[in-house]
Amino acid sequence: MSAARVIVVGGGVIGLSCAHALARQGAHVVLLERERMAAGASGGNAGTLAPGHPPLNRPGRVREALARMLDPKSPLYIRPRWDPDLWRWLWDFARHCTHEHVEAYMNVMAPLGHEALADFDRLLEEEAIDCGYRREGYYEVCSTTAGLAAAREDAALIERYGHQPELVDGDELRRREPAFGPAVIGGVFYPEAATLDPGRFMAGLATAARAHGVELREGAAASEAELIEFCRENLAHFKAPKTVVIGELPKTSTGKIQKFVLRERARELK
Ligand SMILES: Cc1cc2nc3c(=O)[nH]c(=O)nc-3n(C[C@H](O)[C@H](O)[C@H](O)COP(=O)(O)OP(=O)(O)OC[C@H]3O[C@@H](n4cnc5c(N)ncnc54)[C@H](O)[C@@H]3O)c2cc1C
Repeated sequence: MSAARVIVVGGGVIGLSCAHALARQGAHVVLLERERMAAGASGGNAGTLAPGHPPLNRPGRVREALARMLDPKSPLYIRPRWDPDLWRWLWDFARHCTHEHVEAYMNVMAPLGHEALADFDRLLEEEAIDCGYRREGYYEVCSTTAGLAAAREDAALIERYGHQPELVDGDELRRREPAFGPAVIGGVFYPEAATLDPGRFMAGLATAARAHGVELREGAAASEAELIEFCRENLAHFKAPKTVVIGELPKTSTGKIQKFVLRERARELK
């Protein structure tokens, strides 16, 4: 039987991980990245592997998130502009700020968090990726009472799902790490978490993917024509699509793909 041929679009952590895993299972993988590997968030995030971390969209988060998105100094800053995709995304974010979403998310992600760390250990060891990986936990430290209350709320939520955050007061924090100044009033220690240098990790993952035969193409934005061409060349004729739609999958609030919406959209394309 001939090996599967796959195109992966996007050289971030998701795309590279999929490409790497598929190639290890014997698929021929071409990865298309419109800029360069790790050009997006994957190359420059905080590098924290935080199992059980609750979702960003939670009740009460809309106002807070909006303030941070409009503040140019915030890591969540988004330059205000007319972009229907962005506004659709923001609307989707806002309508998921519910207790139901938090519970549905935690039911899936909290157990996955435990497995993911073990998988990470294995991946780094098997591929000898040197990226400053440390399983020493991390501290979330607070300088306001409101911040501390929110951090404790998160800790209580995570604890309910089998993780073990530790509440720490300001004096204890300074005892453990003298670099914390008098403004720090307390925080939470997440002992299961790990940290790494995201740039080095992504470079190592790209090298590993290449070693397993993934063809990494940079400066290659995936267009509809290119994807159809690839399918025509690599699939049986009747399987090659006539149209490719790039967009979000319609899902219910619990993450189930709404196939009837997809069928409806496909009918509209005919
Ligand atoms: C400030 C900040 C801090 C963060 N800190 C953490 C953290 O500590 N821990 C954590 O787990 N997460 C963190 N995150 C989140 C994490 O970085 C993202 O969830 C993750 O990187 C998303 O990976 P991705 O592969 O989906 O997207 P990206 O890394 O954005 O990759 C997508 C890639 O696809 C390419 N692309 C897009 N469209 C096309 C196309 N048509 N053709 C070809 N290529 C295309 C883009 O150029 C890009 O390189 C943080 C995010 C931010 C912004």
